Amino acid sequence: MSGVPTAHIWLPYTQMQGHPEPLRAVRTGGSRIILEDGRELIDAVASWWTACHGYNHPHIVMAMEKQLNAMPHVMFGGLVHEPAEKLAARLALMLPGALNRVFFADSGSVAVEAAMKMAVQYRLNRGDTGRTRFLSFRDGYHGDTLAAMSVTDPDEGMHALFKGYLPEQVIAPIPRDEQSNATFRQLLHERRDQVAAVIVEPIVQCAGGMKMHDAATLKTIAAAAKESGVLLICDEIAVNFGRTGTLFAHSQAGIAPDIICLGKALTGGAINLAATVATADVFDAFLSDRAEDALMHGPTYMGNPLACAAANASLDLFDTEPRLQQVATIEAQLQRDLAPMATLPGVVDVRVKGAVGAVQVADLHHLDWLKAQFVEAGIWLRPFGNVIYTMPPLTVTPAELSEITRAIAEILPRWSALESDTR
Ligand code: PMP
Repeated sequence: MSGVPTAHIWLPYTQMQGHPEPLRAVRTGGSRIILEDGRELIDAVASWWTACHGYNHPHIVMAMEKQLNAMPHVMFGGLVHEPAEKLAARLALMLPGALNRVFFADSGSVAVEAAMKMAVQYRLNRGDTGRTRFLSFRDGYHGDTLAAMSVTDPDEGMHALFKGYLPEQVIAPIPRDEQSNATFRQLLHERRDQVAAVIVEPIVQCAGGMKMHDAATLKTIAAAAKESGVLLICDEIAVNFGRTGTLFAHSQAGIAPDIICLGKALTGGAINLAATVATADVFDAFLSDRAEDALMHGPTYMGNPLACAAANASLDLFDTEPRLQQVATIEAQLQRDLAPMATLPGVVDVRVKGAVGAVQVADLHHLDWLKAQFVEAGIWLRPFGNVIYTMPPLTVTPAELSEITRAIAEILPRWSALESDTR
């Protein structure tokens, strides 16, 4: 297909009119994407935050090859298989508290939908019919399907367009000090008879602009949910598996969510898989002698054996390779390299947490120009909203990471000059 324009492809989040031909990827390896024209790009965003072990890790590839030959897929309705059983058992063992019942999904958004459905039905099955809303946070993002969109920040682009179609939720700012803690607790208390669950991205709200909060904030949110008798859903899809410095982000606060959503790096970035994990208490509410109390959800490809095999291999790597140490090294380097950018014109804030580094600017125009500049510098980096950020593979080498941060340092001043020229 070399040289044939993408006449039949509809790209994500893209105004297709007049859009330049996208780059063509032909191979990946380590932290790199190889293009059809032979250029190699260091992936500063790990393919939408999935490729935590870098690309094509031989341990994952081998596990998938083995599974591919035995059984690439079989339906999960009425059948189970070893890769899924093993993965569910491992996740239950790794997760805190009573989070031990794993519902597999095929994407993060679907995992969030399943979590929301679980929370509402948890109440219904107990005869409590009024709790159908969710409390979610400003700058939050939970996916592109409609229920997931409803708990995403309402000022986020596509939201306004779908107003009236999306269920209305209770949206609160992330509480960050004593006063906002009290306001948050009061809001949740007042709305507790309507709210089925609080849903939060722990530690870093990623797609909403790489906004960070500390463990104390998360503790406050969890305590307020408990106080008001409302379930807590932690959406760790973007931050799970080491991204913020611990295997799971919420464990930095020592809290025990009722439901957790996992995805993205779950398979080490090799194939799509997500999971919604519930506590025994949530699961028990679905046990009864009435068929209608069952969870009525079942994505066609849920529990796909090939994806489960990849995820099992990915979990092995967290045991056998020093991923969390690598995150600590990345964090230190990002802090060192990005901090000086805080004083550049146009820069509003520089934030680092684990293997997430973000440079927030006042206004981000010339997005296509900026992306092209990074490609020219040999870096695959995708600024959005008002942030230029990196979430590299956790296996990125210090030299590769230097190339990423050097490109940001060189391109930022040129971008800022361009912005002030057009102002
Ligand atoms: N939740 C969070 C926190 C996410 O960052 C994303 C994806 N960026 C999703 C849910 C949705 O996941 P998916 O794109 O796999 O549907």
